Amino acid sequence: MLKLKHIKKSYKTGDFQQHALKDVSLSFRKNEFVAILGQSGSGKTTMLNIIGGLDQYDSGDLVINSKSTKNFKQKDWDAYRNNCVGFIFQSYNLITHISVLSNIEMGMTLSGIDSKTRRKKAMEVLHKVGLKDHAHKKPNQLSGGQMQRVAIARALANDPDVILADEPTGALDSDTSVQIMDLITEIAKDKLVIMVTHNPELANDYANRIIELKDGLVTSDSHPVQEDSEKPSTFSIRKTAMSYLTALALSFNNIKTKKGRTLLTSFASSIGIIGIALILALSNGFQVEIDNFEKDSLSNMPIQVASQAMQMDAASFSNTSKTNDLKKYTSEKSVYAQDDVMDSMIHQNKIDEDYIDYIKKMDTDLLSGISYQNTTQLNMITKQQNGIYQPIVFDIQSAWMQLPTQFKSDANQSVLTAKKETGIIDSLYDTLVGEIDMNQPGLVIQVDAYNQVSSTTLKQLGFEENEHVTFDELLHKEVKVILNDSWYNEIGQYYMPGSNYEQMYNSKQTITLKVQAIMRGKKDKELITSGSGVLYTPSLIQEVMSSNSSSAIVRAQQASETNVLTGQPFDKDPTSQNTKEATLAYLGADAIPNSIMIYPKDFESKDDVIAYLDAYNVDKATDDQVLYTDFAAMLSSLSGEIMSAITIVLIAFSAISLIVSCIMIGIITYISVLERTKEIGILRALGARKKDITRVFNAETFIIGLCSGLLGIGIAQLLTIPANIVIENVSGLANVAKLNPIHALILVCISLILTLLGGCIPAEMAAKKDPVEALRSE
Ligand code: ADP
Ligand code: MG
Repeated sequence: MLKLKHIKKSYKTGDFQQHALKDVSLSFRKNEFVAILGQSGSGKTTMLNIIGGLDQYDSGDLVINSKSTKNFKQKDWDAYRNNCVGFIFQSYNLITHISVLSNIEMGMTLSGIDSKTRRKKAMEVLHKVGLKDHAHKKPNQLSGGQMQRVAIARALANDPDVILADEPTGALDSDTSVQIMDLITEIAKDKLVIMVTHNPELANDYANRIIELKDGLVTSDSHPVQEDSEKPSTFSIRKTAMSYLTALALSFNNIKTKKGRTLLTSFASSIGIIGIALILALSNGFQVEIDNFEKDSLSNMPIQVASQAMQMDAASFSNTSKTNDLKKYTSEKSVYAQDDVMDSMIHQNKIDEDYIDYIKKMDTDLLSGISYQNTTQLNMITKQQNGIYQPIVFDIQSAWMQLPTQFKSDANQSVLTAKKETGIIDSLYDTLVGEIDMNQPGLVIQVDAYNQVSSTTLKQLGFEENEHVTFDELLHKEVKVILNDSWYNEIGQYYMPGSNYEQMYNSKQTITLKVQAIMRGKKDKELITSGSGVLYTPSLIQEVMSSNSSSAIVRAQQASETNVLTGQPFDKDPTSQNTKEATLAYLGADAIPNSIMIYPKDFESKDDVIAYLDAYNVDKATDDQVLYTDFAAMLSSLSGEIMSAITIVLIAFSAISLIVSCIMIGIITYISVLERTKEIGILRALGARKKDITRVFNAETFIIGLCSGLLGIGIAQLLTIPANIVIENVSGLANVAKLNPIHALILVCISLILTLLGGCIPAEMAAKKDPVEALRSE
């Protein structure tokens, strides 16, 4: 059934060619006990390995059941080893980290036989070799003779036709040898057994055919096969494949023998994961805090529509220079006009009646307040404590602002109404004293968190040189707005402000402003309400305008095409301050505001407000568009950007340790491959494919990767506890660091992928190992 036809095999070491087999032709019967005798180095093992498909011949042919193996592929040899031959080695070659039973089952496991059948068959052969009580021991808990019995049981387990034994008693004492030889003789009753030995006595006592080898040649054969005495038989080999589960189980058992090392490796490679997990937990937590904070406080921040808006997009920056057309360091004798950088970045908003109407049509349910700042000049005089009458001078820092109009939350109300109910003022400010009456012209003093106002503000109100003023003094303060007819005197063609302040103060052409209330920004709205100053009720502007629009100076200006205050002609540029419209607005004839503050009701309605404002600009030429400034969005996008920048930098640092651990896993796996070389050889001898060997090592790195991922997440989770305690002590925020389960899952996957990546090269190296050499390794 087995035929060697002119088999030649040589090994090359460097330049030296060693002819191990020089033209060997032999035939074996289906059932006989053949002993191969010969001196050391005569080629016995080489021949046995070739018969067993562990090594491949250089030329000739090995015919199995009348089938040539010339065209055998690797997987055919793998399958052949697995189910046609059983090997018995001098040094037993058992896998030490799995049980006796698992060792015996391995061949069947590789060929995919189910565990029940496997177990039954394994117990059967174990019984046959007399070791059924030792099934669950590890091989190194057995004596030499017992180990060889296990090896014999393993060789028998897959029920092969051929048993190949390479000096099976070479490492045993003579008594044990006899027992093993008896066992092999027993097997040889219904199988072909080819046994290599250098002991002629053993061969004579047990074998029924003796073949002698010398220097790679057959020198004698005691019972040669007559040619053509055998009928050809049909013959097929079942293919093998190791399941991933088997690979995992094998590696898991192996890893169990080196728990300490695995734990340390996992821990070392988990450090990167711990770092990233902590960073993510913290940045997520802070982002949540920031988002909540924005919802709570930034939603009250107004959207501002001013006469000018900054445009910070890339287009406006690139517009800033036409420098591209010019040459650097030119020798030209010309000077060119450069575009003003600010001009292209500042957008002039045309806030006209159309726009105001549009704003007034906005759904008031979306708003908690709105305030308009008018260009109308307020001419005011205060009586100082020393009795001197003094005009109130404003500069950009000490300008008095209009209180926002508050909205009644009534869906049916389509007209904006000023109401002293809950609205923007009540949600942002605490009234410390007094009461705000929006329907009366009056003043409200806003103090900061320390009850401060600027000394300029106190001076404006007439409190000269005072360190502090009591609420009572402030509430008794009166300021008078002087109407146009009293303030301006006609001198020729021009109008000039008068200078007799006492007379103006006491004239009838005034509106008396009382300080109605003192208010202070609420503690939790400090970000929005940090300022201080003087505010006036919206009804003041209405009253001033209703009087001033029919004043002499206004009528004169309406009739004249030159500025009645300066006598100068007006500018053509509509954005200029020196136009007829601007001058009339200044004098109180017109109510076009130059700035609008829109206070959205809450976080959700803010989006609608913005959508409404955006809708105005659709289909409008760029110059006609009205741009707004959303301070809250600017703040939050800034905080978000800073947050993600910090997160990315920190993660990049941690990622370095991931790379280090990837390399480390590569080295560890390489060491493991070196340690498990013998196991690789055994598995290959039992029919494992190269692919299966790769799987075994990938399984090992998979386990380590999983361990390090889980360990990393676990440790990071534990570390969030002290981190949260520290954060709470520093910032008062509780439970900030929180690991997102999805992030945890992704990190475990990353850990798995990286370790598999690190281990894949050593795993490939393991698969490429020559089985014969692997078996010979110690
Ligand atoms: P035996 O088993 O009879 O002692 P072997 O079959 O192991 O002999 O070896 C036959 C010859 O081939 C020896 O000279 C040995 O040195 C050589 N040989 C065997 N395997 C290799 C190898 N992998 N590389 C180089 N030479 C080898
Ligand atoms: Mg040998």
